[in-house]
Order: sequence, then structure tokens, then C-alpha cells
Amino acid sequence: MNKELKELHPRRVFKYFEEISKIPRASGNEILVSNYLVEFAQKHSLEVIRDESMNVIIKKPATKGYEKSRAVILQAHMDMVCDKFKNSNHDFSSDPIELKVDGDFLMADGTTLGADNGIAIAYYLTILSSTDYFHPPLEVLITTGEEDGMKGSRRVEPCNLTGKLLINMDTWIDNTLIVGCAGAARNKIIFPINWEQCGRGLLSFQIKISGLMGGHSGTDIQRGRANSNKLMGRLLKGLSEKMNINISKISGGSKLNAIARETEVTVLIEASKRDVLFKELDNWNHIFRKELIYADKDVKITAEEIESKTNKMLSKDTTNKLISLIILMPQGIQSIRENLNNQVESSCNIGIITSNEKEVIISSSVRSTQKSLKYFILSQINEMADLVNGKFILENDYPEWEYNKQSYLTDLCIETYKIMYGRKPKIAIVHSGLECGILGEKLGYMDMISFGPKMLDVHTPAERLSISSTGKTFQYLIEILRRIKY
Ligand SMILES: [Zn+2]
Repeated sequence: MNKELKELHPRRVFKYFEEISKIPRASGNEILVSNYLVEFAQKHSLEVIRDESMNVIIKKPATKGYEKSRAVILQAHMDMVCDKFKNSNHDFSSDPIELKVDGDFLMADGTTLGADNGIAIAYYLTILSSTDYFHPPLEVLITTGEEDGMKGSRRVEPCNLTGKLLINMDTWIDNTLIVGCAGAARNKIIFPINWEQCGRGLLSFQIKISGLMGGHSGTDIQRGRANSNKLMGRLLKGLSEKMNINISKISGGSKLNAIARETEVTVLIEASKRDVLFKELDNWNHIFRKELIYADKDVKITAEEIESKTNKMLSKDTTNKLISLIILMPQGIQSIRENLNNQVESSCNIGIITSNEKEVIISSSVRSTQKSLKYFILSQINEMADLVNGKFILENDYPEWEYNKQSYLTDLCIETYKIMYGRKPKIAIVHSGLECGILGEKLGYMDMISFGPKMLDVHTPAERLSISSTGKTFQYLIEILRRIKY
């Protein structure tokens, strides 16, 4: 064991975390970690089931006195997001994650840490391999492909599980119990392009909007940050009111679940409008800066004249329809939930816009804790696609986890927290996705809760796990299991 890690408590939890960290486990490449879990179960003489999707279920009987209690499902995912700093040579297909301690935090060396969700696996293996704790019958469910559209949980076979209480540990907000999450649907509009020849005397400009903060389209959507794709739509609309413009290329955003930070467009204008263009860009720079003074103060519009590489551009009609589409597309918060501190209920994020020879593709992600609202927003996007003779494609749809006010498990977790820490925990519904939505739908009525140790900058190479919170959360989990006796 790494010397630094040897000092950390709970020792066995960090020992298992270190073991898991040695195994490559990018989404889609879970075979080795899945093997490791099966071998772990066999070594400890525990019942183990592996399904076609490599999901692993390990069962452990109740400890003495808990034989009559109902089974509890402890759930986590085995894959991790693989991201690294530009200067890192790490190869995620073969190299172990290098762990290092920095104050109260455990980090990796220039890569994502994978504590999302490896630390939950480490907790569960600690409990499965130990005789120190009291608990009901346990069904530990560790899924694959969570970070890639929740592929594994979609294929969990209900007949392999009997528990109706489920603890998910794929969240990382301090002192907070998660009691629900949004569902989401990825979708795109494929908008066909008509080209026309560039007339004489047109100048080509590359215009870029950048300097935005971006963030996660689920958990950061309430921060009021701008989406560069949307801003570009507004800018193009503004320019088109002052001069003739034709777009020849557009690209914006890099990930569907990230608020777009940069969008670039190539436009053609008459040479005589050059000064008007720069005056207008200046004007819009001021407008955006004023609007975004708190949320995105570094927003900027830049433009440079470029040599046109082709002699064609989108037709006037295509250009106008494309601009209309972008400015009409829903973006950001769509509704707020009145209970539980006015949290975001529905949202849409225009994550990526790309263009090619034949079409412009506008990809977005719609989230809501209400299924009906999610489908309403999707139908708005679908209608817009129809209006411009585009095609609407629904790609990846997963259900919400609806907040259950009468939850035995939530009450028990609140009560346990109060006894252990002398105050009430926070209760929240998250606007990002959790496997609870899919599992709840698959397994029938489930009483579920999610919590986990504090982590920061998850899904980035700066990901770090609080060591003290890891210990505290483990004690909390153990105490909850001890108290589930019915
Ligand atoms: Zn996760």
C-alpha cells in the first residue's frame, strides 16, 4: 500500500480504493474491474451474479439479529470519467491512477481521481469483507457505463434483486441527502442546408464568442451563466438587422452536458459593411458584458477577416432559418419547483452546434424532475424542427427519480444524522442524473436515498476527495445499516 495512504482512516476503505485505482476502468472498458469484483466475492465466499452488461451483484446475508430485516441494495458504478491535464502522459487503458494526499484531500496526479464512484465501491467492499458491522441482508449492485448514458443500469435484470430499499452513493455534496433527481433526454435537430455561390466583393469574417464560465448543464444551470451558442444566435440576429449576412460555417460547444463556452461562426458580408460590422460587434460586446456582469463578466466577441476557402455560403433562407432556430430554442432554466427551496425543475442546454456539407446539427439536453415537462420541452424542439423542414431525433432518454415525501429511508437517514451530528442534514433534489431514476422504474416501487463524501471538481483532472468526509460518511453509512431493522 502507498505509504501516504496507509496513514488514512478508515484504513480498509482506502486500501480498497487504492486497489480499484490500479485497475483501468473507463466507461466501456470495465472488464478488468468487473473481474476484480467477481474474484473479490469468490474469495470471501459471497454469492455473486454478473449479467451480460458486466454489472456485478454481490450478496451478503444479514448479521445476527437482522435476519428478519428486509434486504438493502447498496448501489454504485464501476466506470469512471477519464480526463487529464494536457501535460499528462497517463494512459487510461493501462496505467494505474496515481494517488496523492494534499492536506485533507486525496487527488490523482494530473488525471481524474475516480472517487466518483470508486469510493462507494471501497465502502461496500469494506462492509462485505468485514464482520465488524451489523446490517440487514445486503445486495451490492455495481453497474457499468454510468458515465456513458447509464448503459449498465438500463440492463440490470430485476429478477436478480429483492431489496426495496436502495442507497446510492454517487453524489458528493457535504451534509446533504439527495432525495430525487431530474430525468433527461438528449436530442438533436438535423437542419438541411441549401448552398449558394458567393457573390463578388464579399468579405469573410470569423466571429467568436468566448470567455464564458460554462459548467455542468445539470448542476450549474441555476447559476445564470450564458451559453455561447445562444449568444451567437442573438448576435447573428442583431447583425442581420443591420446588413446582409450569410453564414458559411458554425460550430459551438464541446459536450452535451456542459454549458457551451465557445462558439465560432464564419459569415460573409458586403465589403462596404465592414465598419458597420465592427461597430455592431462592439455594441454587442457591451450588451453581453452588461447583462453578464455577475455571471460571466469575461465574455468577449472577437472577429478577424479571413481568406474564404470556398466560393459557397448558406443561402439567405437557410441562414435566416438557422438564426431563428437558435434564438427560439429553449435554453437554461425552464421552470422552478416551488417546494424544496425553489430548485430548478426543468432546463434545456444547447450543448453542441456543428455544420457539415449537408446539414447543421443542433444537439441539446433537456432535463426535468417532471416527465410531462421534459416531454413538453422536447415537443417544442420537435415543432421547431418541423417548421424548418429539419429532422428531430431523440437519442438518450432516462427517467427522473421522483421525490417521495413518505420515505422510510429518508426519515431514517435524517434521524440518524440528527443523532450523530446534532443537527438536521440538508435535503435536495439534484438537477443532474442518477441511476436511481432508471433503477426505480425497472425494479418497481423503491425507497431510495443518495449521499456521499465531499468531492470537488468531479469529472475534471482537479477532482479531489475529502479524507475527513470519507471517514465521516462511512460511519454514517454503517450507522444507517445498523438502524435498518424491520
Ligand atoms: Zn458518478
